[in-house]
Amino acid sequence: MSESMLAEMALTLLRESELSVAIFDDGDVLRFANAGFVQRFHMQPDGRITWADIMRTNHALGRGTRVSGEVDFETWLASARSRRGKQPFRAFEGDRHDGQWHWLTETTLANGWMLCTVMDTTELHRQGRSLRATRDRALHAAQTDALTGISNRAWMQQQLDRLMARPGTLTLVALDLDHFKQINDSLGHPAGDAVLRDFARHLQADTRRADSYGRVGGEEFMLLLPDCPMAQAQPIVDRLLGRARTSIPLPEAPRQRYTVSAGLAMRQPGETAQQLVARADAALYQAKREGRDRLVCAA
Ligand code: GH3
Ligand code: MG
Ligand code: MG
Repeated sequence: MSESMLAEMALTLLRESELSVAIFDDGDVLRFANAGFVQRFHMQPDGRITWADIMRTNHALGRGTRVSGEVDFETWLASARSRRGKQPFRAFEGDRHDGQWHWLTETTLANGWMLCTVMDTTELHRQGRSLRATRDRALHAAQTDALTGISNRAWMQQQLDRLMARPGTLTLVALDLDHFKQINDSLGHPAGDAVLRDFARHLQADTRRADSYGRVGGEEFMLLLPDCPMAQAQPIVDRLLGRARTSIPLPEAPRQRYTVSAGLAMRQPGETAQQLVARADAALYQAKREGRDRLVCAA
């Protein structure tokens, strides 16, 4: 195939392309624009048009590129012109006042002629937004206990690791509902679920913003109290156990009560998260052994 035939074929391909394509000469005068480009930039395809004319027309129509910062349009245009065509290749994204997004490329020859392509990425952006929203929902679900709506074990583990890595005191409380199996057995699983939700509500009501709490097992919860010395932590947990003790979790069975046992441990120097949890658990089992419905603090 001869060079001239190839050139003709290339021009035909550019004309037919779904991409918006334009060619500007060394004075930034438009020398070629395919139908897509003409339509996208609302051009009257006759006469001598420069790139700056196209930008001005679109700005006036309220469809132009969104200008970042406080600058007025002509200042922005002057600055954009000073950067235009200074590199062999440039690609960038722009959003327009009409809500559309563009991916633009500029290929510039040494003699100053430039090939400009524009792809509409509006739909990609829309999909990206919906993908990000889906990801955020999935992330939230992965950190949340579905039954009670409070944090789950995975989130509490993350919080524990985060709090262990910082200086300051840290108090960990392991909580376990007493004789919970009996509630399930006598009133049914849905009643048991309602009791778990009731306790989660009390946990929420009784904690500071810096505190973390979550459901870490069937009827097991965890409370993390940063910068809270033992003397402060103890009354917080006692108050929580008191709330549970006097709570009426099942309106249909107002005489049904429940109690909670708790084990508290304060981080010791050099201790790992695992060791801290183990000491709180040991204190919790001591609370169970000593009769339940009580708080035991690890030595
Ligand atoms: P203790 O005072 O020694 O802790 O006795 P307990 O009965 O509370 O302890 P046990 O470990 O024997 O029983 C826990 C029960 O919790 C058994 C299980 O069926 C129940 N459970 C675990 N997850 C759920 C849940 O999501 N909903 C309900 N309703 N029950 C659950
Ligand atoms: Mg248990
Ligand atoms: Mg239990």
